[in-house]
Amino acid sequence: MGRNLDSKCTQCRRAGEKLFLKGERCNTPKCAIVKRNFPPGFHGPTRGRRKSSDYGTQLTEKQKLKKYYQLMEKQFRLTFEKASNKPGDAGKNFLRLLEMRLDSTVYRLGFATSRAQARQLINHGHFQVNGVKTDIPSFIVKEGQEIAVRPGSVKSLYFKQISESLKKKTELPGWLNLNGAELKGKVLHEPVETDLPVNFNVQMIIEYYSK
Ligand code: SF4
Repeated sequence: MGRNLDSKCTQCRRAGEKLFLKGERCNTPKCAIVKRNFPPGFHGPTRGRRKSSDYGTQLTEKQKLKKYYQLMEKQFRLTFEKASNKPGDAGKNFLRLLEMRLDSTVYRLGFATSRAQARQLINHGHFQVNGVKTDIPSFIVKEGQEIAVRPGSVKSLYFKQISESLKKKTELPGWLNLNGAELKGKVLHEPVETDLPVNFNVQMIIEYYSK
């Protein structure tokens, strides 16, 4: 499947809800969903939202979650398969694994303003897990592990600025701990139900992949 070339805000408007793809801007009134909450295109304002078939609804739900985590189909599907092999609730396992990918964790810690940017920073070798350089965005973090900006990267202008902005950071999921001054965070435990995103019908995604 090819890369989605829609602009980020257009993807949200197509999905009909905020997918938080543009960092800080998403929490401001400049967000396109706040300003223009109707489907994109010339007929958008009058067209309303189309009714979809079961298959269409499942597909839409799958696309929405995939865009939220800013993943390509292959990575998204692999994470789904990994979750399906775990015991317990497949839907919650899937969301938990998506959250615990290193790119998502780096984003949640505030070291990047989007998951896509987190992935790029990881690919460029700016992070370590428990002191070991880790440049694989799909790496799944584990309880007790420490995620830190590598010593060689700490002095870069980007991370100096991030360190400043982390001083004002107030929102942090309960499963993570952050030491902004030292640009490091810790996984306290696996995300619990209240740490998982709620506006997705994961059951439909399971049905979509079960066909
Ligand atoms: Fe989506 Fe709003 Fe962020 Fe644009 S600003 S990416 S519409 S959440």
